[in-house]
Amino acid sequence: MQKMRLGRTEMMVSKVGFGGIPIQRLTEDEAVTVVRRCLDLGVTILDSSHVYTTSEERIGKAIAGRRESLILATKTPSRTCDGVASDLNLSLERLGTDYIDLYQMHGVRDFDDLKTVLDPNGPMTVLQEAKRAGVVKHIGLTSHSLDVLKEAVKSPHFETVMVALNFVNDVAANELLPLARENDVGVIAMKPLAGGMLDNITLAFKYLMGFPDVLPLVGIDKTEYIEDVIRIVEAPWSMSETEQHEMARVKAELGTRFCRNCDYCQPCPEGILISFILQVRSAVKRYPPEGIFSGTVGEMMEKVANCQKCGECETKCPYGLPIMDMIDEEADWFLQERGKFLQQYQT
Ligand code: SF4
Ligand code: SF4
Repeated sequence: MQKMRLGRTEMMVSKVGFGGIPIQRLTEDEAVTVVRRCLDLGVTILDSSHVYTTSEERIGKAIAGRRESLILATKTPSRTCDGVASDLNLSLERLGTDYIDLYQMHGVRDFDDLKTVLDPNGPMTVLQEAKRAGVVKHIGLTSHSLDVLKEAVKSPHFETVMVALNFVNDVAANELLPLARENDVGVIAMKPLAGGMLDNITLAFKYLMGFPDVLPLVGIDKTEYIEDVIRIVEAPWSMSETEQHEMARVKAELGTRFCRNCDYCQPCPEGILISFILQVRSAVKRYPPEGIFSGTVGEMMEKVANCQKCGECETKCPYGLPIMDMIDEEADWFLQERGKFLQQYQT
């Protein structure tokens, strides 16, 4: 597969990267087969996180003996020095490697969170030390907040950023990419199919291939899927007028009910994580059900019942989404699905 330069990391990576979330849902043998098929087709960069349960371990098994030719990216949600050190060690162990090519501070929510990450005595010091020791080659950041990402690309600390980008959620194309280019920061695009909302993969990947310096990360759980994606990205690039009209049509159709994760609707006085609630169906599709239906996700969904219908969020949403109705619908759906899952589990 053709390669591209990932910003000032100077790493040359395949034009499509492997996203390690969906393999958690497979058996270990299936997961290893899927990863190996991706490698055989020329994928050279794989992204995971130790929080994706079995993902790193399975990737580690699949890449045994081939590590040197690959770029491994992983991440930590921790914001403490001890937490980051421990997460990094866990990732090294699970991936079966003694270095990580790209280690990312994961899911930086807002400016306060970014301040914690960049505290002169905080978690970044651990990564900088690991970088000096050669255990981490490059440091990146992932976020759903465009404001955080715009700040991160101006910082000398991050060599890559990971952002949601697809033809429905295209704000980053205008607001983030020019800044990232100016600062030579590599851009990794997550959610190429808008979290499962787009089913036309040809259009979705053609759109992303229009940005030759952006690396799309594709969550793969079927070998046929990566085969299709590679066929699309390796074909000579063109975008017909018909395809442009189709993108505009799909965008308009989804536009009134599609959350772009920008978090302009926050803060909610009741602490309801609106964008999370509105993306929960995509998470249910990608993550193992026992993780999704237990613990914190369920607690977040239950919180929707505390909504006071104050309407503050709707006045702040730049896309005019009917948030109050949408979160009710998503919470009802989730709680029903959780009920069905628990019933199955108990019988
Ligand atoms: S309407 Fe509900 S979700 Fe929106 S800001 Fe008010 S309490 Fe939060
Ligand atoms: S509901 Fe609107 S403001 Fe809130 S994250 Fe989604 S698109 Fe942004």
